[in-house]
Amino acid sequence: MNARRAGLAVLLVAAAALPGCAIDPEPHEDRVSYTEAPLPAKASPVPSDSPVPPRVDQKCGDPTASLRPNGSGSAARGPALDAIRARGRLIVGLDTGSNLFSFRDPLSGRITGFDADIAREIARDLLGNPDLVEFRSLSSEEREQALINHTVDLVAKTMTITCERRKRVAFSTVYLLAQQRVLAMKNSGIGGIADLAGKRVCVARGTTSLDRIRQDQPAATVLTVPTWADCLVVLQQRQVDAVSTDDAILAGLAAQDPYTEVVGESISAEPYGIGIPLGDDDLVRFVNGTLDRLRADGTWTRIHRRWLSSLGETPAPPAPRYQD
Ligand code: GLU
Repeated sequence: MNARRAGLAVLLVAAAALPGCAIDPEPHEDRVSYTEAPLPAKASPVPSDSPVPPRVDQKCGDPTASLRPNGSGSAARGPALDAIRARGRLIVGLDTGSNLFSFRDPLSGRITGFDADIAREIARDLLGNPDLVEFRSLSSEEREQALINHTVDLVAKTMTITCERRKRVAFSTVYLLAQQRVLAMKNSGIGGIADLAGKRVCVARGTTSLDRIRQDQPAATVLTVPTWADCLVVLQQRQVDAVSTDDAILAGLAAQDPYTEVVGESISAEPYGIGIPLGDDDLVRFVNGTLDRLRADGTWTRIHRRWLSSLGETPAPPAPRYQD
């Protein structure tokens, strides 16, 4: 197409877009239709009359105190460790769509991210090879049951250590300290949790984030979904005004949409632990040994820099606390 014809084509396209133009005399109003975007599968609004979950009395001492490591590598023995060694691979539950923590690298097809790297380091120490890991996809609300049913050896999925959860599952020492905050569209006027009164907020089910937002901002309307990636979709579709969860997860969502931003102060501290079936004390001690190694040999700092630098300067790794 020569320059003149190209110019004419542009003009025709532009003219077609003008209301009342001779090329298209019909008024546009009655032909423009907007389709309501569907909600993600299994999205469900929290009914306004549903009772707010009570603030759980955190009376279990320090829930982040775990079991002291007792050697790592091939010297460590125990029923859970022996079963994993006999199987020859470590089965790890995580979310396969959580940007920065556990998501599929589009080029390699491998599950990568902060949580995936921690899981591979455990496999490295236990089985001598970081790739002897089988990842099983879990939503937030499936984490505890997967541990109770022993369908996974451990859960590495942004899981906050709480007294309530410790009744049903065991945890490693803290391997990341996150803070619950708010994600909103830029220039939305939302600057934190106080601005969510009368607004719609998306939260994943089975999370500390859901309980916290309902307790601290009961005037918000809450939509629950299975995964945090679902929350980004409903925010982009303007079906909610904000998402609230841990800053580390929100950073991963914000990185996927430059029109969003993390706002406001910390709503609560969220210490992450590796979830382990209750009673698998040998595995708890072993994982704590690996976490100690990662803190000491610089691996923790390296993987934090690799994945979570958008949270600011890499801090010192969280110091372990032990109950024994
Ligand atoms: N840290 C929060 C929790 O454990 C939210 C993280 C998540 O849903 O993965 O419930």
